[in-house]
Amino acid sequence: MDPALPGGDEDGQPCIELTPCTELWYEDGSIVLAAEGVGFKVYQMLVAQNSTIFADMLAISTPQANIDSRYGCPLVHMPDPADHLRSLLLAIHDARYAHRRIDNAPCAEVIGIVSLATKYDIPHLRIRAAKRLAMWYPDSLKAWIAVRRESVSLSPTDNRDVMNVARQCNLTSLLPVIMFALCDRPIAEIIDASLCPQDLLLIMQGRLELLSMQRLLPYRWLYRGNETCVTPSICNRLKESHSHTLENNPWRQRVWTFFNPFVWANVEKSGMCKQCVADGIQTGETGRQHAWNELPAIFGLPPWNQLRRKP
Ligand SMILES: [Zn+2]
Repeated sequence: MDPALPGGDEDGQPCIELTPCTELWYEDGSIVLAAEGVGFKVYQMLVAQNSTIFADMLAISTPQANIDSRYGCPLVHMPDPADHLRSLLLAIHDARYAHRRIDNAPCAEVIGIVSLATKYDIPHLRIRAAKRLAMWYPDSLKAWIAVRRESVSLSPTDNRDVMNVARQCNLTSLLPVIMFALCDRPIAEIIDASLCPQDLLLIMQGRLELLSMQRLLPYRWLYRGNETCVTPSICNRLKESHSHTLENNPWRQRVWTFFNPFVWANVEKSGMCKQCVADGIQTGETGRQHAWNELPAIFGLPPWNQLRRKP
């Protein structure tokens, strides 16, 4: 059977050309789900077993009288984005390996799964997809440093899309790190992410707050004298130079280096005396943990412990 048949108007839906999703078009499938002109011929029982919401919806939509003769099974129009529906149906139909699939899925696929698994109440897929997102946007500094070490870097557009789905699905503990990741970009890239005006304002204000926090917490030692310093003329000159580097052209750079372990490793090689190096490492260590604790407040969010409590 050629699946490229027109999507029907038997129940009053507009007659549109359905493009079959080749990954999800089973010849012996028992229902065609359609979204944004894309058709998915899948197994109704499998879909219904995963979600009581799906089960109820499909039971109402697919009495025997509604069988579409072109597909030999019922056709149901879904209100969801086609790419999200594809991601969810792939996870459902990859039943044995769904979790492994999610653990290796790209960002856009995980977004689709978490969004629709929340909407259609499929807890095991929602939890797994949320864990995948938390690997990219962890709520602890130690885990974030590991993410940075592995050079995992999602684009500003990914950040924006995850921010939207995290709000929609109440995954609030992801939000501070998503917003930080957006701030950790040159201004031109943030603009290119096409944030809504309110979010753009939030991120720009957050950037300014981070600049201030950088001076006050992890890099405070660069802006003050050290009574135990044995080579003040050298150390003070180097501190001034480093502070200029930090603040030079923050519009273009990824300036928030204080959570980056590679930068801290360089303090020892800075040429300052041992006492200043020790002061830098100690102040940096306590300062960056303090800064991490303050991250939610930078973006007007509740403290970490409250964010983590949300489901
Ligand atoms: Zn010194």
